[in-house]
Amino acid sequence: VIVVRGLTKSFGEHEVLHSISLHVKKGENLVVLGKSGSGKSVFIKCLVRLEWPDCGTISILGKDLDSLNYQETNDLRIRIGFLFQNAALYDSMTVRENLAFPLRQHKKRMSAKKKEALILEMLDNVGLVDSIDQLPSKLSGGQVKRIGLARTLILQPEVMLYDEPTTGLDTITAKEISELIVKMQKKYHISSIIITHDMICAGITADRIIILRDGIVYAEGSYAQLENSQDEWIRSFFDFSD
Ligand code: ATP
Ligand code: MG
Repeated sequence: VIVVRGLTKSFGEHEVLHSISLHVKKGENLVVLGKSGSGKSVFIKCLVRLEWPDCGTISILGKDLDSLNYQETNDLRIRIGFLFQNAALYDSMTVRENLAFPLRQHKKRMSAKKKEALILEMLDNVGLVDSIDQLPSKLSGGQVKRIGLARTLILQPEVMLYDEPTTGLDTITAKEISELIVKMQKKYHISSIIITHDMICAGITADRIIILRDGIVYAEGSYAQLENSQDEWIRSFFDFSD
């Protein structure tokens, strides 16, 4: 459902991505690892046109991004959920209003009753129905992440792109969020790319892993394959002792 070929992106002289090619199959969770600054966020931004690649082709859900007009691009965007690194909720809105917001923007024809039912379904998914009338400032970091996930999933995307979904969380909460992601992907038949350097998250979510290094796809395989790689640099990702 995602096919990327020869994606290259530079900022001035600095080539961040050099001819990246990869694909994601239907229902698959692809985890992308890489050291800080290796271009992971730039890569995922290229997929939703928050950054413009210098060359290469990107096809998502069978649509070649370059061939789409404005309306078609917007239609496709609604089918793709994007959970940003440090995604913030709207502080002045309650949890309910935070979830209602994307529906108001993109599902103008949906009835109020259907919207409320969807909000409750999503809060139930993430175990936070009781927080519906709270303001985000009253929630813990893990709860904010859950609400962020619920808010993205409420538009029922077919593809999800996650940038560091567990960043800033303690180990146990990171594990819970990762398990929640897997549960949601299965329930709604979502395919995804998950950018992370949290190996707990990778271990729980990955069907397959790609490691970026110096702008190229340096390694690819299952968690077990890469963990037992001959290459010391690759193995270093799986060394939890630091
Ligand atoms: P982290 O794990 O810390 O989030 P990352 O792999 O996501 O790192 P990116 O944010 O993709 O890294 O950045 C890759 C490189 O591209 C960095 O050297 C960064 O300075 C550079 N970069 C990113 N965005 C821009 C921009 N808009 N203009 C110039 N340089 C940029
Ligand atoms: Mg990043």
